[in-house]
Amino acid sequence: MCLRSWKIIPFNSARWPAGRLEVDYFPLERARTQELILRHLPKPPRVVLDVGGAAGAYSFWLAESGYETHLLDPVPLHVDAARAASSAREQGKLASAQVADARALPFGDAAADAVLLLGPLYHLTERANRLRALREALRVLRPGGWLFAAAISRYASLVDGLRGPLFDDSVFAAIVARDLASGQHRNDTGNPRYFTTAYFHDPAELAEAALRAREDTDHFVCLRLPGGRVGNYVRGMSRPVRDDPMDTVPHGDVDLERGLIVSCNAYFAQLAQAVGAQAVIDAASLFQIPVARTPTVEALKPLLAQVGYGQGEALVTPLKLARVSASIASGGTIVPVRWEQAKTTGADASPRFVSPRDAARLARAMRAVVTSGTGRSLRGHPVAIAGKTGTAEIAGAPAHAWFTGFAPYDGTRRIAFAVIVENAGFGGRAAAPIAGAIVSAASELGLIK
Ligand SMILES: [Zn+2]
Repeated sequence: MCLRSWKIIPFNSARWPAGRLEVDYFPLERARTQELILRHLPKPPRVVLDVGGAAGAYSFWLAESGYETHLLDPVPLHVDAARAASSAREQGKLASAQVADARALPFGDAAADAVLLLGPLYHLTERANRLRALREALRVLRPGGWLFAAAISRYASLVDGLRGPLFDDSVFAAIVARDLASGQHRNDTGNPRYFTTAYFHDPAELAEAALRAREDTDHFVCLRLPGGRVGNYVRGMSRPVRDDPMDTVPHGDVDLERGLIVSCNAYFAQLAQAVGAQAVIDAASLFQIPVARTPTVEALKPLLAQVGYGQGEALVTPLKLARVSASIASGGTIVPVRWEQAKTTGADASPRFVSPRDAARLARAMRAVVTSGTGRSLRGHPVAIAGKTGTAEIAGAPAHAWFTGFAPYDGTRRIAFAVIVENAGFGGRAAAPIAGAIVSAASELGLIK
């Protein structure tokens, strides 16, 4: 990662989309950036993504040097200009130019040898969004690839003010004071010399954010796919993982809770890839759930993405799935199966599925599935139900509808259940109401409290 230590700010990049680097002493910025890139970038042919590349100041330079360069920018005006410039060229054409968000790149994992991230880290003013952009850049980079990220220094306005008479204007002084205090640069004056809305980094902060983005594997992105579907491209798969056809709006940046609430296939496919085949086999075998016909890492690997969201060769019975929910409800320990009422064996002897803390986290998310997610047809049930919908797609027939969970969410004596309705389609519609009826019956019989 290279750090742009300072940046001079007289121009509004929206007003000067193409020519900014040609004027004043921006040629110095350009030369310095190019020098740092050339110092590390391996010789062509290589794939480079210029994320937030505007009209292509660096993209065309790289394309002319023989790199397969893909330009991505959120501003259609910039992308149109880049496309027009590319098609007018004899050589040094861009491999592609498209409108895209730095937080959800339309490229698969490990697709690029290098990523340029020269604009997004100052245009994105929220830390969470900057982390998302960094995570996405790291995701699309092949192992050992190079990320060239630039940020604007916290002290940029101060330096700029000191070189000119800007501090004569008290408004400018106030802008600088805010920059130094929070890094949040705002210019309400309309004077382009005072730059645009941006975030100015403390130098150490950028290195910290890059580290954080690399370690954080709990977030994955769900984006818009061709053909009106949503999902994401997953490493090693020729076709993207697609969410349910009813999902028309991409889920964006998804963490575990949100993945469960909205039932995002793309999230769980990427999570399974991240934790690996062995971890999936280990967890499933605690419940005797087969995830591949041959239960080996080698056999599971090509199916891992689909198994992550319950497809592929994963095979489960309602009883086994009810045990998973029961385990989450009982603080992470695996509840033994008893076929008739008998004295409970000591919980300490039970094997553990997840830690009490993780069980509580999963339970909270399953409650949110019912209050605000795919299981919300049970939102009005008099007993607080926690659950998870499932739609098990099968070739040549309607999907099996699933719903598993437990109730009451905050109870002292609870039931866990799993419902399958074969060939009934979406689990939230067909199976969840039956689970609601089971909970009602348990409540009337006094089995829960
Ligand atoms: Zn999704």
